[in-house]
Amino acid sequence: MGDQPLRSDKAGELRVADEGRQVRLAGWVASRRDLGGVYFLVIRDASGRVQVVIDPQADPAAGEIAKDLRDEYCVAVTGGVRRRPEGTANPDMPTGEIEVAASQVTVLSPADPLPFQIDDRSEVDETRRLKWRYLDLRRPRMAANLVARSRGVAAMRRSLERQGFMEVETPTLIRSTPEGARDVLVPSRLRPGSFYALPQSPQLFKQLLMIGGVERYYQIARCYRDEDFRSDRQLEFTQLDIEGSFWGRDDVLEALEQVIVEVLGDLRGIHLETPFPRLTYRESMDRYGTDKPDTRFGMEIRDLGAVFAGTGFRAFAGILDSGGVVRGINAGPRGLSRSGLDALGEIAKGAGAKALAWFVVEEGGTLRSPVAKFLGEAEVAGLVETFAAVPGDTLLVVADDAGVVAPALDRLRRHVGHPDPDALRFLWVIDFPVFEKAADGSLAPAHHPFTSPHDVDEMGSDPEHALSHAYDLVLNGSELGSGSVRIHDPAVQRRVFEILGIADEEAESRFGWFLEALRYGTPPHAGFAVGIDRLVSILQGEPNIREIIPFPKTQTGADPLTQAPTGASAEQLAELGLAVVGEAAGEEAGGADPAG
Ligand code: ASP
Repeated sequence: MGDQPLRSDKAGELRVADEGRQVRLAGWVASRRDLGGVYFLVIRDASGRVQVVIDPQADPAAGEIAKDLRDEYCVAVTGGVRRRPEGTANPDMPTGEIEVAASQVTVLSPADPLPFQIDDRSEVDETRRLKWRYLDLRRPRMAANLVARSRGVAAMRRSLERQGFMEVETPTLIRSTPEGARDVLVPSRLRPGSFYALPQSPQLFKQLLMIGGVERYYQIARCYRDEDFRSDRQLEFTQLDIEGSFWGRDDVLEALEQVIVEVLGDLRGIHLETPFPRLTYRESMDRYGTDKPDTRFGMEIRDLGAVFAGTGFRAFAGILDSGGVVRGINAGPRGLSRSGLDALGEIAKGAGAKALAWFVVEEGGTLRSPVAKFLGEAEVAGLVETFAAVPGDTLLVVADDAGVVAPALDRLRRHVGHPDPDALRFLWVIDFPVFEKAADGSLAPAHHPFTSPHDVDEMGSDPEHALSHAYDLVLNGSELGSGSVRIHDPAVQRRVFEILGIADEEAESRFGWFLEALRYGTPPHAGFAVGIDRLVSILQGEPNIREIIPFPKTQTGADPLTQAPTGASAEQLAELGLAVVGEAAGEEAGGADPAG
């Protein structure tokens, strides 16, 4: 090969205009066919694929090598570009009108027999894909996902730099920043018995940057959250993290809208209209039963309290009397059998409802339903009118506490809705509550404890209903990220800790350093974080974020490729002052594989 560069052209970029040129290509053998002694290879590199023809009669040496080539060998090819013979062009390949007639083929690196086919057609078990991720990444779909991710991040940076933001890195070995998950801890060797936390987010550091006079901050930040099993989460993930001082909510939303417009322009070639619609949390819950509504289709929730006020139907009357609600959706013309309707009932129950009442509207405005006989004429008319229902429509109604009805109707709505798969519905949900009730009845921050309440007094007197300046970005029913206006007054910050039951001493020991920082002329500030993996996965039409992360972990936090996490050697443990107790203690260093 001498000093000549290995490659003169990228395989996927050759076109008819290159006809007659001598080119040197380097890439992988994506396929090899032997047609009557003539070899047809498809050579793939990062730019795409091109057909290479080797005719042993014309070139016996190249023919010898071609004979032994196997899929995924890494090769270099020298040859002339020529038009494919009449009628053999491949319209599915951008290079499909030409081929390269090889005069020389060199094997740069052979490949073992493959654990799976490197194409988008074969379905491969995910653990196998992750075990040989480097091969999986050669598949066109994964390669395209990595490109999309890189371009998306580049577009984010472009937009933010244009808007005057500055990229600042914050540390990853830190003291805990609470975002509602468990910390991933790292033991300190120099201080045995002490631990760093990996950041759940750069939250407090970006706030310190505001105090430090950085007025517009951003970072492509790796975050670590040890959450209980949830299908579309990863232990580590990447956020676009931003913060600005002398800023309010609308400044944040407008800056991010520009970022999203830039990303969509680049990845989808479309211009999104701004501003995105805004819904308050309350409106979102009332109309869609969720704080991340999919607005690609209608079927909004209607309240039937007025229709059933004073009803003789005992089930509904009892619930309304005890402060519950009766709400439903018009699922449209479904033509469901009894068992189909029962299946919807199971979905509602799966979301926590005790029962689902269904009504099919008949010609003449009567209702078919197991409970129709309990309803008065006015109630039937009221139902039909509230849902603007026409004959054939199926009405799905749930009666219970509002907190039970909302998720049940959300689940049903998502199940029966027909979203346009090409539509992109970005929206903001604003004015979240400051706190939410945890399972044990205690209050927890709905966002995080650094979020500014609308009204400090109200937060003290009625914490369960107090609203905050927290907001979420939602796309097609998925939460893309959240942010808030932050507390910049140390007294208000203390008050939040107090309501959360974090006593002064504890607040002092956990957050004293931060409370102190707030006392040095903290500017009002606000920010946001967008989940990059989630955004790109939706834009790429991928069902989960693992398809967008080059080296993700399984849902049990394992990496089938490197077998992380592993045990530590006795020496390492001794240095760290750690002893492993319980089941794991007997495992060899390097041998633990919790994925089993
Ligand atoms: N820390 C983020 C913010 O409020 C939110 C998050 O990380 O989820 O900016």
